[in-house]
Amino acid sequence: MDLIDPFGRTIRDLRISVTDRCNFRCTYCMPEEGMKWVPRSEVLTFEEIERLSRIFVERFEVDGLRLTGGEPTVRAHLPVLVAKLAALRVPTTSSSPLAGRKPDLSITTNGSTFRLQAHDLREAGLDRVNISLDTLQRDKFLQMTRRDELERVLDGIEAAKEAGFSPVKINAVVERGVNDDEIVDLARWARDTGVELRFIEFMPLDATGHWLNDKVVGQDEIVAALQAEFPLELMPARGAAPADRWRYLDGGGTVGVIPTVTKPFCDDCDRVRLTADGQFRTCLFATTEFDLMKMMRAGATDDQVAAEIQRAVGTKWAGHQINQVTFVKPRRTMSQIGG
Ligand code: SAM
Ligand code: SF4
Repeated sequence: MDLIDPFGRTIRDLRISVTDRCNFRCTYCMPEEGMKWVPRSEVLTFEEIERLSRIFVERFEVDGLRLTGGEPTVRAHLPVLVAKLAALRVPTTSSSPLAGRKPDLSITTNGSTFRLQAHDLREAGLDRVNISLDTLQRDKFLQMTRRDELERVLDGIEAAKEAGFSPVKINAVVERGVNDDEIVDLARWARDTGVELRFIEFMPLDATGHWLNDKVVGQDEIVAALQAEFPLELMPARGAAPADRWRYLDGGGTVGVIPTVTKPFCDDCDRVRLTADGQFRTCLFATTEFDLMKMMRAGATDDQVAAEIQRAVGTKWAGHQINQVTFVKPRRTMSQIGG
């Protein structure tokens, strides 16, 4: 049975935060210190994540599961979870291209320890990886992530390629006055390295409250900077995927932009989210959460949990309101929600 929201959008993609903890402290995501971590006893177990994923995939025909966080690779034994999720099957009766097969399994990671895990995650059934990298300059990397780990991330990207992930996607958040001078350098590096780069507009989900509209480098500005160096052509519409994509006219591959702030793509949104502490959210910017962990731990049946998921999806709003005065910043940061 499809999970359809009040605006007729079918939910196909579940983002699962496996931890709120992280080995980095990116300035646009976390404060340097003082984060309050969810106690381990209140983090969903692998069995709970598997149970909820089974409901989403086998009842509601969700065909994409993305692991995120915090930093998902800091969760111990992650390949064990991936193997559990790889055993799920999208119903054969589904209209999904993956009907009868396992859901598409992906991860978003900062890449710093990916060398150690790439092979095992691939073997366990992980299909795709997105690695975050905002700068190629060591001092700026230290400034942005508060960790001196550029080399390890670059090595993690190589490890992902070696393990057979293709394409490896790179997420780069652009913040005005911080790394907007590197748009072309990052694009050139991605072309040379054979990875697919997607720039992300800076969103108001930072912990320190330093987000300002002026700090957002919008899609038009990013594309103009790229166009001046590498002629580009817009590719056909993206469907439910968040990135708009362009093709380099010289055959150098593609580049994307996720324009959450300047060109919201809410009309095509097919995503819902599960936080590490078992809260179900129908939008990254939602201000309401549905406590699925509490229900499960109180003994709810699958039918009851499924009914609560349907009730929650029934409240999914048409879109976020970042550009309007009515916008209310979510209580939790990107790392706590699961980006
Ligand atoms: N730790 C992993 C990582 O960094 O890739 C996964 C979680 S992180 C919250 C997911 C994505 O959100 C990353 O690509 C990160 O750069 C992005 N992100 C974090 N805070 C952001 C913000 N305020 N605006 C836009 N993107 C942000
Ligand atoms: Fe950690 Fe990812 Fe947030 Fe950076 S963006 S602090 S790596 S969760």
